[in-house]
Amino acid sequence: MHTHLHTPPLAIARAEGAYLYTRAGQPLLDTISSWWVNLHGHSHVAINSAINLQLGQFSQVMLAGLTHEGIEQLAKSLVALTPPPLQRVFFADSGSAAVEVALKMSLQYWAQTEGTANKRYFISLQNGYHGETLGSLSVTDIPLFSAQYQPLLVQQLRAPSPASNLASEGCSASAHEQHCLTAMQALLEQHEGQVCAIIVEPLVQGAAGMQMYSPSYLQGLAELRTQFGVHLIFDEIAVGFGRTGKMFALEHTATDGVEVVCPDFLCLSKGLTAGYLPMSAVLTTNAVYDAFYSSDVRRGFLHSHSFTGNALAAAAANASLALFASGGVWAQQAALIPAMQLGLAQLASKPWARDCRGIGLIGAISVVNPSNQQPMGDAQRSQLVALMLEHGYWTRPIGHHVYCMPPYCTTPSELLGYWATLGSCIDYVILGTPWAKPAVYLP
Ligand code: PMP
Repeated sequence: MHTHLHTPPLAIARAEGAYLYTRAGQPLLDTISSWWVNLHGHSHVAINSAINLQLGQFSQVMLAGLTHEGIEQLAKSLVALTPPPLQRVFFADSGSAAVEVALKMSLQYWAQTEGTANKRYFISLQNGYHGETLGSLSVTDIPLFSAQYQPLLVQQLRAPSPASNLASEGCSASAHEQHCLTAMQALLEQHEGQVCAIIVEPLVQGAAGMQMYSPSYLQGLAELRTQFGVHLIFDEIAVGFGRTGKMFALEHTATDGVEVVCPDFLCLSKGLTAGYLPMSAVLTTNAVYDAFYSSDVRRGFLHSHSFTGNALAAAAANASLALFASGGVWAQQAALIPAMQLGLAQLASKPWARDCRGIGLIGAISVVNPSNQQPMGDAQRSQLVALMLEHGYWTRPIGHHVYCMPPYCTTPSELLGYWATLGSCIDYVILGTPWAKPAVYLP
């Protein structure tokens, strides 16, 4: 509220493709896909018409005792797209709700299969983010979001983050990941028989500032899962649906003949409906499903949101998945990912640039003032956002981490233009370099 005193929120009048249009008519490239959600661009013809078609039939029916074709189709498609052990789908209405569902299901699974309530802890990662409802906030490790609510939160366990920015001086990224796995193992030994599940954001800790780690850490977690008899929950709410260059980030674990790491629960949301309507899904295994299958309703999974399985959201999601199936998205990505890498690489040698990192269509860079080694501060960040707006880009850095995850319909030259403009704007804000029109700047 206080921020808006000086920078009122921008009113958006319409949006199309990769662009938002302000009330004053200024186009802004939506470089963060409106917080990861908008995959194929705004006002996409195919998705609009799928929603309109569904609207002509019905918009919402309860998903208890009733069902509909759209949601059944969506469940089948999600099962077909994910590793074979994931056969069952539970729908909810936000990313946070999906995390709540996975936590509750895991806890109840262990209580019903082991007949004791011993398993009650969840291990999440340092700097991890899983949402802001009370259960999901309990496994979120961002004090800014959680500190005020401590009395309401359930105390959970934290393991060190494998993100490469946390590797100590002289320690390689892979050695750091190994240390983190050792620490995870120690935590599991200390709480043996008490842990329901480990929950992680695969490969990219988004709210921590797009901090990344390698698939081999996830392989290590899969081994610990088997050794200690705990569940693995992958929160792909942000990174799912093509964002890392593969349909799901977990697919990166299948390299060099190594089998893909399949979680016990896969949480999806954000890009699920391509940014059109709120919806989430939790995929799980037949083993979990069977533990709830009972004539005693109290052994069932009682989690009933009013808007679960919304028909308009399902229509949007099915239309989005059809765009992936047509191959068009992967062709866009094949052209766009090299531009992401090139644009990032061109900034890597800037004196303020630290830790240029990227995977698929996520690129990030940390900004440090070279004269005093201080991270970019609040005032500089606001100035940078304002300058980028002036040049037609909607950005939203986290602290001193600037990142880009554009809609897949962005063109390579638009993306290169973004990185080049960003470089010139940071030069201006951090170094005081007079504004120079970047070579590839495209108005
Ligand atoms: N998990 C991750 C990794 C997220 O990025 C988010 C969204 N910020 C959530 C969970 C929560 O999703 P939602 O905001 O839809 O509740």
